[in-house]
Amino acid sequence: MSHPKRAEIFTRDAERTTWHDETLWFVRQKRDKAVYAVPEFQELRELASQIKTHTLSRLADYLEQFEAQAKANGVHVHWASNAEEHNAIVLDIIRQQNATSIVKSKSMLTEECHLNPYLLRHGVEIVDTDLGERIVQLRQESPSHLVLPAIHLKKEDVGATFFKHLGTAEGEVDPQVLTEAARQHLRARFLAAEVAISGVNFAIAETGSVVVCTNEGNADLAVNLARVHIASMGIEKLIPRLSDLSVFTRLLARSATGQPATTYTSHFSRPAAGKELHVILVDNGRTQQLGRPDFRASLKCIRCGACMNTCPVYRRSGGHSYDFTVPGPIGAILSPNIDMRQHASLPFASTLCGSCTDVCPVKIDIHTQLYKWRQVIAAADEIPASKKWSMRLLSRVLARPAMYELGGKFARTSLRFVPHALTHAPGYNPWAIARELPEPPPQSFREWFKQTNPKP
Ligand code: SF4
Repeated sequence: MSHPKRAEIFTRDAERTTWHDETLWFVRQKRDKAVYAVPEFQELRELASQIKTHTLSRLADYLEQFEAQAKANGVHVHWASNAEEHNAIVLDIIRQQNATSIVKSKSMLTEECHLNPYLLRHGVEIVDTDLGERIVQLRQESPSHLVLPAIHLKKEDVGATFFKHLGTAEGEVDPQVLTEAARQHLRARFLAAEVAISGVNFAIAETGSVVVCTNEGNADLAVNLARVHIASMGIEKLIPRLSDLSVFTRLLARSATGQPATTYTSHFSRPAAGKELHVILVDNGRTQQLGRPDFRASLKCIRCGACMNTCPVYRRSGGHSYDFTVPGPIGAILSPNIDMRQHASLPFASTLCGSCTDVCPVKIDIHTQLYKWRQVIAAADEIPASKKWSMRLLSRVLARPAMYELGGKFARTSLRFVPHALTHAPGYNPWAIARELPEPPPQSFREWFKQTNPKP
């Protein structure tokens, strides 16, 4: 299903759409307040962008440095070229440990690799421990936002989910009661966990350590209780030095939720005594994106979600309408790299207003890349025939002023007589589904200009 079709399903619930829009705009406003409180914020953005650009330009060297340093620290380092290899490595580690109780803290990479269904198919059940992730997992849904995975749900939805799965009272919607129920439910899973899987926010080449940022502390609880910690990371998460980290931690939480810092920023450098730490370095299309000069900068993304919170299309179409692990503007750049045909509609899910680019903490030129993907997709003939032919026709008309004027005159006259049922016929004019056409003016701008500015 294309983005417009999925978005149409989401927007059928007008109340939810408005609420979703307003909630994310509230997060965007919180971000703005936090950003304006830091006078050097724009310098931090520039610095972060340059650090990431530099790292990507020498990614192979830094990856090797990271591997050597991590191994020297006693960490098991694995390489996975794609999702299948990543999942097989995780399963192998779990089987070597004879583990049956596995917990996971939030990791978009494991979502991208579809790790949970893979492990389920092999008889291993995984419990997501981030509250939002657990809610969507119980509902057998995917996260709809990078930072706020259950943002598409209201407390009534959560109440119904917990009533069904956690035994809370029917109709219970008090957030405190629901959170406490989740806490009790998850506490037992934490205590029983033998293997804990986490994502990685940053990996430091200089020290061979990985950094995990959470607000709930679930990653810390999980990896400190389990005897094995598996940290899955995309190869673009690397930064060169420990001293670079504070640039990103100052940007990440402010851009994501408007907090000065995430509640927990935990460094994992070596396994604790008697325990194991595994780091899986995953490519899964990233080197291919690195090889596309126009889209390489998308690998600078630190997954803060700010571009989603500000995007008018995301806010009113919901994360699931993108049908990709990373939704929103950045997902619309990353997804065609993985499968251009399947995700051909996503770069068009944008007004190209540039708000995403303005808020991006690592200065990715998001809207420019969306525009470039449109050209690549059109050149590859992956746009609908109706759009292709109407654009060709329009380019001919726009290139001929006389034809343009004639067309305008015809439209202004005919629109006065065409019945409303025809101009707004479903399936014929999707633009007019939720809009009224403007009243046709009696004359064009050019005619008006000539009339009011007669030549002397
Ligand atoms: S593209 Fe920029 S704004 Fe969007 S999630 Fe990534 S870092 Fe954040």
